[in-house]
Amino acid sequence: MTKDKVALVTGASRGIGAAIAIGLAKRGYDLALNDILLVQDDLENVATSIQETGQRVERFLADVSNKAAVECMAADVLNAFGQVDAIVNNAGILIAGEMDGLPETVWDAVMDVNAKGSFLVTQAFLPSMKARKYGRIVNIASIGGKHGAPEQAHYSASKAAVMGFSRVLAQEVGPLGITVNCVCPGIIFTDMGRVNLEDPQVRKAWQAKTAMARIGEPDDVVGPVAFLASDDAAFVTGQTLNVDGGIVFS
Ligand code: NAP
Repeated sequence: MTKDKVALVTGASRGIGAAIAIGLAKRGYDLALNDILLVQDDLENVATSIQETGQRVERFLADVSNKAAVECMAADVLNAFGQVDAIVNNAGILIAGEMDGLPETVWDAVMDVNAKGSFLVTQAFLPSMKARKYGRIVNIASIGGKHGAPEQAHYSASKAAVMGFSRVLAQEVGPLGITVNCVCPGIIFTDMGRVNLEDPQVRKAWQAKTAMARIGEPDDVVGPVAFLASDDAAFVTGQTLNVDGGIVFS
């Protein structure tokens, strides 16, 4: 059980982010929840589940792709908690579309949230982590950034960007006691995951491609993230961990 540690999870109102936030609270973290909040009740429900664990929880609304909003959020989180030990950059979007004819606005929107958002949030908390000589940064990338699927070139590029900057940042901040790792989920049952699963044939095909012969649940991602956020992973940095039930074997 972790004690006196604070974690920030972005995109925490539903799906994988909600599961990670609740999972970290169950492991003893106090939680700063971020979301852009399209649906008010969702974040409230996550906060209630965390309160039930006895851990402290606060909500911070910000679009992770907006630098000013992220800087404001970082100041508010640090004012409220005094420190952030672990950041989980989870907020992400997927807008499917073939490369041929993909509007520039869609490319930019996906890169802005998935790649730039992770960069901005990380950058905003680095000074406080450096000052404390401690930090755990866990970026939720995707096997899509390694493997990819049709109609997701821009999504794949955004997740490859996250893995790229994570490997370099790990080298920059390693001497300061800060680790930076990525988790790459496979096909997980969430609102986003459903894009890949609506067609029963496609769903069957993904199941058949997966060694465990099943689609993942948000809770499947929690343990690996909690490990990388913990002191058990103090000597693990610059890595990407596939959490995909066995689709990508590298
Ligand atoms: P999801 O169910 O669509 O949830 C995404 C969350 O991110 C929502 O809470 C959403 O807020 C929030 N969000 C979106 N844009 C944001 C912004 N600009 N600022 C702050 N929050 C924002 O997706 P998910 O499946 O849980 O995915 C979570 C992460 O895992 C993403 O990075 C995704 O790329 C990655 N991933 C997912 C899968 C999968 O199969 N599901 C596979 C690989 C990787 P609202 O609720 O307000 O919209």
